[in-house]
Amino acid sequence: MNILVEASLEPEVSSTFNVEKIRADFPILNLKIEDKPLVYLDSAASSQMPQPVINRLNYYQTAQHANINRAVHYLSEVATAEYQKARCKLQQFVNAREDREIIFTSGTTDAINLVMHGYGRKFIQADDEIILTTLEHHSNIVPWQMLAKEKGAKIRVVPINEAGELDIHEYKKLFNERTKFVSLIHVSNALGTINPIKEMIAYAHQHDVPVLIDGAQAAPHIPIDVQELDCEFYTFSAHKLCGPTGVGILYGKAEMLESMQPFKGGGDMIASVTFAETTYAEIPHKFEAGTPPIAAAIGFGAAVDYITTIGLEPIAAYETELLNYATIRMLEIPGVNIIGTAANKAAVLSFTIDGIHPHDIGTILNEDGIAVRTGHHCAQPVMQRFNVPATSRASFAFYNKKTEIDALIAGIKTVQKVFL
Ligand code: PMP
Repeated sequence: MNILVEASLEPEVSSTFNVEKIRADFPILNLKIEDKPLVYLDSAASSQMPQPVINRLNYYQTAQHANINRAVHYLSEVATAEYQKARCKLQQFVNAREDREIIFTSGTTDAINLVMHGYGRKFIQADDEIILTTLEHHSNIVPWQMLAKEKGAKIRVVPINEAGELDIHEYKKLFNERTKFVSLIHVSNALGTINPIKEMIAYAHQHDVPVLIDGAQAAPHIPIDVQELDCEFYTFSAHKLCGPTGVGILYGKAEMLESMQPFKGGGDMIASVTFAETTYAEIPHKFEAGTPPIAAAIGFGAAVDYITTIGLEPIAAYETELLNYATIRMLEIPGVNIIGTAANKAAVLSFTIDGIHPHDIGTILNEDGIAVRTGHHCAQPVMQRFNVPATSRASFAFYNKKTEIDALIAGIKTVQKVFL
């Protein structure tokens, strides 16, 4: 934990990051909860939306809305072009080779289900093995379990150590001739662990095994280059990246997407339909049946513009500064245990307090206007590994500041006074 030594204990000091200027973009941060200023420390669940993204959504609904792909009238052409522009923004954001490698989905969960149905149900057979990790979110466990049950395939799980880091030696030992797919979380939502996915993808490829990366917690904090990573699939949701709910992307290598069967059937995903036979549209349309989340996708594009303008590298550096400050302050309080102490960690602080249930912690903090998440974080295997029913989780974004961490620390001391 030597990184902590370098962390500044001085509130509000960051030589390179003007957090007050950034906060001015987020109207919701001015809210008062129970007469106290909102301290929003739940960005890993959903981040807040800046004014430029709100404005973009507003402008689309006010002046550009129509259904896409289906008409020659002016508004439909504008909406179609804007939707396609959003796809290109996402292509650039992850450095995909081609825009048709970006599929708009309703979010990360939907994207993983798409790959399970489109790739898994077509190519995974009885006795095949799928590798997951202990750190997975339920959305990257349950679809594969459903597939395994249907096909008679097996799930193999990479264990983690006491710090919440994957055991890479064990990962490598799981591969054999029956291994057919790897699906991996990039950054743990429950613990913040950043996994060495590049090395893990390369190892899977030595065995000709394709890899899906669940980047729901990574894309808002770490620059992603899918060509450099060389993963077959990468997915994340807009609502954790300052965008709207209801949309996310699946990046897939074109040849993989082309080899897959459609997930959902309906309008816009076909080339021709007769009662005798239907042929499917080319990618990406093959995987975008029905009216897609047009407004949300355009808002997603605006969110990516906003984040790109600030820059993911300064964002990551500032968030690390917040994490280190919060970790030091938290360790000062007797009876507080940090769950997840990986050397390479995103700005997520999961903790328990001796003798106090996490839900009670969340409730008392809320009385001070402090929003943290309590529960199993849709990662029950992580909770089981650490033998806790739940944790409290503070997660930081680039619009948080050190005085908010001070408020959290004071809040935790209040919780201890109330319950102990
Ligand atoms: N994976 C991870 C790591 C997540 O944190 C989440 C959201 N908590 C998801 C998947 C699911 O994302 P969504 O609910 O947007 O589909």
